[in-house]
Amino acid sequence: MKVVLQNLTKIFPSRNKKSDEEVVAVNDFNFTIPDGKLVGLLGPSGCGKSTTLYMISGLQKPTAGKIFFGDDDVTELTTEKRGVGLVFQNYALYPHMTVKQNILFPLQNLKGADKLTKEEMQEKAYLAAKLVQIDGLMDRKPSELSGGQQQRVAIARALVKMPRVLLLDEPLSNLDARLRLQTREEIRRIQKATGITTVFVTHDQEEAMSISDIIVVMKLGVIQQIGAPQDVYDDPTNLFVAKFLGTPPINVFNGTVKGNKLYIGEDAVLDVPGVADQEVVVGIRPEGFILDENGPFHCHLRSVEVMGRDVSIVSENEASVNPIIRSIINADNKVDANAETVRYAIKPHKIFIFNKQTEERIHFEVK
Ligand code: ADP
Ligand code: MG
Repeated sequence: MKVVLQNLTKIFPSRNKKSDEEVVAVNDFNFTIPDGKLVGLLGPSGCGKSTTLYMISGLQKPTAGKIFFGDDDVTELTTEKRGVGLVFQNYALYPHMTVKQNILFPLQNLKGADKLTKEEMQEKAYLAAKLVQIDGLMDRKPSELSGGQQQRVAIARALVKMPRVLLLDEPLSNLDARLRLQTREEIRRIQKATGITTVFVTHDQEEAMSISDIIVVMKLGVIQQIGAPQDVYDDPTNLFVAKFLGTPPINVFNGTVKGNKLYIGEDAVLDVPGVADQEVVVGIRPEGFILDENGPFHCHLRSVEVMGRDVSIVSENEASVNPIIRSIINADNKVDANAETVRYAIKPHKIFIFNKQTEERIHFEVK
């Protein structure tokens, strides 16, 4: 089921009676979610991810704009009529019901032509439970399950009606690190197996990158960039996106373009043909540094951390916006941890420059 979000906008009135400042939670959101894909809505807390999801679900009414499921305009439809499955951060299971009763619950409310027999309901509940691998726990109460198991029940409950669209709002946030990883792979497997168009909300860039076919990066209610995770990482549209994606994060410097060369401090680190002379912000991915004793970029070495396959080099530079610079180098390279200076060449496709005022990307030809 293709989902079209057209000029979707949500404005909340001020919570504070004394001020009349409104909150534009979602600002003119335009995006078509392709059929059968998993889309990750990604951005810092408060950027409008949940509000977007709630509008898709019908829990919140847009201030402006329209939502289509396929060719159907669902903007005015209730949540029940939309045929969506919802999973929230807190599992929201009914504590007095068993796992089976929890999963059966959405089916028991079906009316008219959709009404199912007891046998049909049982079969669907078992199928959904099997999909998330909790079919052996059907008679337990939620309190007798681990967090990960509870979240699986919540997912089974969302899947039992075979929704047209599956909506997940930070579904892994309450799980510990290991379970989070496991459940995330599980969600991906289920999504692929069922082919249900899915929107997955998270503030965790790594989670979004690893699970999504497409990510939508948001800031203050506004879409910043949409694309395949790797494409967005490799080709960020602005400084915000460049900084939001990647661990360790991108290294940021103040720089200057002069005579088609990019300077960080006194070092001419790269040729940037076609870029006008100006002050810029420079981003270099941690994997963008090459150890090179004749390299143009010199930094003060602080420490060398061996991480098995890789070596992480911590250094400093006067033009760095952050206190430290972190570069990741293949462990085959020998680094003298006692040296005062470390010299780098920079991989041209791992360095980005941004307009100092707008923070928009400035493109240059990579040779
Ligand atoms: P996210 O899920 O990305 O953390 P939300 O969609 O929950 O962000 O919120 C986006 C913005 O809208 C925030 O500034 C938040 O405070 C505001 N907001 C969300 N819900 C309401 C509401 N019911 N009333 C007023 N403001 C709200
Ligand atoms: Mg939220």
